[in-house]
Amino acid sequence: MLIFHNPDHALHQPRQEMFRGRLVPCHESPARLHHVMAELQRRPVGTLREPGPLDDALLRRVHAPRYLDFLAKAWEEWIALDAANAELDVLPSVWPVRGFRHDVEPANFAARLGLYSFDAGTPLMGGSWAAARGGAACAIDAARAVLAPEGPRVAFALTRPPGHHAGPDFFGGYCFLNNAALAAQALREGGCTRVAVLDIDYHHGNGTQTIFYGRGDVLTVSLHGDPRTEYPFFLGHADEHGEGEGQGANLNLPLPAGTDAITWRRTLDQALEAVTRFAPQAVVVALGVDTFEGDPISKFALGSADYLEVGRTLAGLGLPTVFTMEGGYAVAEVGVNVVNVLEGFAR
Ligand SMILES: [Zn+2]
Repeated sequence: MLIFHNPDHALHQPRQEMFRGRLVPCHESPARLHHVMAELQRRPVGTLREPGPLDDALLRRVHAPRYLDFLAKAWEEWIALDAANAELDVLPSVWPVRGFRHDVEPANFAARLGLYSFDAGTPLMGGSWAAARGGAACAIDAARAVLAPEGPRVAFALTRPPGHHAGPDFFGGYCFLNNAALAAQALREGGCTRVAVLDIDYHHGNGTQTIFYGRGDVLTVSLHGDPRTEYPFFLGHADEHGEGEGQGANLNLPLPAGTDAITWRRTLDQALEAVTRFAPQAVVVALGVDTFEGDPISKFALGSADYLEVGRTLAGLGLPTVFTMEGGYAVAEVGVNVVNVLEGFAR
């Protein structure tokens, strides 16, 4: 197994997020990846690599160019408003909801920030763009590695910030660039005619769903906390099946908060049956371990040992597989849980 790790992830070190009317320390921190790296030293299930330069052309086929241009300059613009802003994270506070226009890009920075985001929980700072780009490069390189003639059948994009909430032209849910979608697109362009993305993070992969919703060549399947009570709230229901050519190529399996490991694994089997029916040539697994019983912001109840079984089950697909690192906020256990999935898969 090749593990592409993002050398720039710690440049994104968000300070605060908005929670119930108050700024609180951000759950998504560099320590999450440090724990995974430490666990990989104890249990070296794969070979570590740094990614090569990012394929910007591919990036622009997944995300809207005007969104990428905004992200690239956002920090500079923020500082230009007031030099004292260098001490503060950028957080949006105004959004164009129903009835407002999305086609006209405002000149005002705060307004553009709102146009390209969907929550106030995703701080952007000086190093965010470089960190997100490093992660995107990991995802694309991982996809290309599993397609290489002499390559491994499995690769892991070990990165943060995560990606599955980022849409074609918006950030949110701690995500800026959609690493799973980038990996899927790289697999398509690398010769796979059909690709599946299986999202097993606690939260619905709304960004990935939106990116591929009208496409029939990429199946998106997500099992997650029911959006009626769980983030990201406004997408992820069972009646979202895709549209146009993508009709039937999206499957959501929402589960109530409190779901135990047995029910979750039975639902994973359902997801895998859908993947098998689609007959893809490769699969991307958006791997969040916030399904863990000790996760501070999620409400499923998987134990650490369950992740070994999750890995084994995923290997049963028998497909070239790219993992992308998504959520998981029980920071001290993230390393063990992630490496358990990889070890279970490799066995
Ligand atoms: Zn999550």
